[in-house]
Amino acid sequence: MQHIFKTTRLLVIILLTATIATAQNKTRKALFIIADGIPADAIEKLSTPNLKAIAQQGGYLRMHVGGDKGAYSQTPTISAVGYNSLLTGTWVNKHNVWGNDIKAPNYNYPTIFRLFKDQYPDKKIAVYSSWLDNRTKLVGDGLAQTNSIRVDYHADGFELDTINFKHDKESAYMHRIDEKVVEEASAGIKKNAPDLSWVYLEYTDDMGHRYGDSPQYYTAIEMMDAQVGKIWQAIQYRQKNFNEEWVIFITTDHGRSEKDGKDHGGQSTRQRSTWAVTNAKGLNIYSKYYYPGIVDIMPSIARFMNITIPVNYKREIDGIPLNGPVSVAELKVNLIQGAIDVSWKALSKDEKVKIWITPANNVKEGKPDDYKLVAEVPVGFEHVLIPVKDTPSEFYKVVVEGKYNTVNKWISPEVKK
Ligand SMILES: [Zn+2]
Repeated sequence: MQHIFKTTRLLVIILLTATIATAQNKTRKALFIIADGIPADAIEKLSTPNLKAIAQQGGYLRMHVGGDKGAYSQTPTISAVGYNSLLTGTWVNKHNVWGNDIKAPNYNYPTIFRLFKDQYPDKKIAVYSSWLDNRTKLVGDGLAQTNSIRVDYHADGFELDTINFKHDKESAYMHRIDEKVVEEASAGIKKNAPDLSWVYLEYTDDMGHRYGDSPQYYTAIEMMDAQVGKIWQAIQYRQKNFNEEWVIFITTDHGRSEKDGKDHGGQSTRQRSTWAVTNAKGLNIYSKYYYPGIVDIMPSIARFMNITIPVNYKREIDGIPLNGPVSVAELKVNLIQGAIDVSWKALSKDEKVKIWITPANNVKEGKPDDYKLVAEVPVGFEHVLIPVKDTPSEFYKVVVEGKYNTVNKWISPEVKK
């Protein structure tokens, strides 16, 4: 009896060890989908069985776009502007994509693809998109400014093919393009399993512009859910047949107007209202009790994919990871008669946070900033007053560095209307 017990116990230990080893050895892969122009209220009231199945493994979050309303980081609720906020984890005052013409992206704020490739040059990235510019201009495939990043796999540009996707007045061709993109993405995932992928789907926004809140628009959203289901199936296939662990985020780039759902671009509550669905494990207290933004997805994927973000970029990212431990959130800064009033919410205990300040913004030009360490206090203090009389300026960047995340805010005379 004793002998059998010991053997059993040994077997249990071996099995446990094997399970842990397998979990650790799994290759991690990440994929995000942007489905264009769907406010939270719309996604919540429709039938989206695939999104719900994914959310069951992780969660559904209400989120926002548009930066801080009325402040220096206020960001137009426009498509490409939103995509680049996701890609760079920053608002428009940094990434500088103000509209869909994508005139002058500031590549000094690197995308998640760039950070990933710089650290893991042999890993593969993919863009499956109903809009060519996403790869060529935002990710910056092959551009000198992006360290000549190469997008290993891509399927896009179908909107330029007016023979196979003949443009029609009802924009049905756009749905067929999304279908093609999803077909290519699913096949690409099954065959090549890129390490980091972006899928972009446009049809929902087209129907929103055309019909506003309407049966046509709602049907487009339900079609998008089915498309997400196909991609999710491809991911299931990989996880079943290969030693891989995938994380997926599905989100949108902006909401729509309260009045009729046709327009966007402004700062009304519904235009700023977005959402995310993810299978990510360990969604944290920040994701649950605060109001996450589209900029939070980039640091969340970075954490899952073990991307080490260099300190100079870490101090610029406006997002906070939604997964895993977090130290600080809701940083506020205010210049009061030669002192900066810095306050935050503590999301961890028993650690000290460092406060860094600089009166200039060199990163914008691709040069290093000269930050000064001005305080180190227990995170639980949640505020500190920093005298800055010796470095008078109208502009400061303030960084609060915790053990698990770093947040930043500017003091800027510029106020958006
Ligand atoms: Zn859009």
